[in-house]
Amino acid sequence: MTDILLQVENLKKYFPIRAGVFQKQVGEVKAVDGLSFFVKKGETLGIVGESGCGKSTTGRLIMRLIEPSDGKIIFDNQDITKLSMNEMRKLRRELQMVFQDPYASLNPRQTVEEILEEPLIVHKIGEAHERKKMVQEMLHVVGLSSYHAKRYPHQFSGGQRQRIGIARALMTRPKLIIADEPVSALDVSIQSQVLNLLEDLQKEFNLTYIFIAHDLGVVRHISDRVAVMYLGRMVELTCSENLYSKPLHPYTKALLAAVPIPDPDFVKTDTLLTGDIPSPSNPPKGCAFHTRCSECMDICKTERPEFKEVEQGHYVACHLYNK
Ligand code: SF4
Repeated sequence: MTDILLQVENLKKYFPIRAGVFQKQVGEVKAVDGLSFFVKKGETLGIVGESGCGKSTTGRLIMRLIEPSDGKIIFDNQDITKLSMNEMRKLRRELQMVFQDPYASLNPRQTVEEILEEPLIVHKIGEAHERKKMVQEMLHVVGLSSYHAKRYPHQFSGGQRQRIGIARALMTRPKLIIADEPVSALDVSIQSQVLNLLEDLQKEFNLTYIFIAHDLGVVRHISDRVAVMYLGRMVELTCSENLYSKPLHPYTKALLAAVPIPDPDFVKTDTLLTGDIPSPSNPPKGCAFHTRCSECMDICKTERPEFKEVEQGHYVACHLYNK
């Protein structure tokens, strides 16, 4: 029996760019351009990068909310890449998503009880009285009270709304939760409460997480491993400890230099991130990061570095580590 829950192989998503009266395709945006990684059962993989790096698209591709252009997604030993929408709908019981903006993802006309009961009805779980009981139990699990069931999303604070979003994702007892910037819209003081809740729930429900964020500070404590993405590709992937104590890729170093991490053991680099992220419709040749890299060499402008394992479990795409 394998301990891998999700395996992604050479996943790609190219969005066509159309122009003119006949909407002819004039180019494409390579939002995700050949990702390969796995997630083990019970682990949390953080995926980090600036906006436009393809991290959210990756989450949506795994959920099959958008269709991949190429590649394979194997979930729980099943290739789900070619499943029909109907088959996929059934599988979503096991694969759930938590979104950044809980207010936008909760129906404002439904009470919390209706919101939480809906996935049970969709997946035909339990009788009406059992579903009500499950809703009550879940409210307590996420730190809300029974009387909250009859309230509407606008009657809650941002942190409470995210608790409702998490509760909804948990109702069908999924195996994998993809959390797309789940705390980015919240105040810093509330962020840690929601992160702690996610950690507690992981243990209680034996969950596997993919945690997407633009900030390396946020994913640090919750992630077992962290992947850094730049322009649709992974540039570094390693265990959380390694990434923060000895980052290898200049882009990771620059991201780390930009976040305040209150830890005396954390070695802050002075690599600064300059310039804007290039357009994914016209990525730079060679290493896509070379236009912003302080360590750029001639080879970086022409040859794309391979994403390879340079130490056990530590993958990086950078010519500085060519052996
Ligand atoms: Fe910088 Fe070259 Fe490494 Fe790219 S391959 S990150 S440009 S040193």
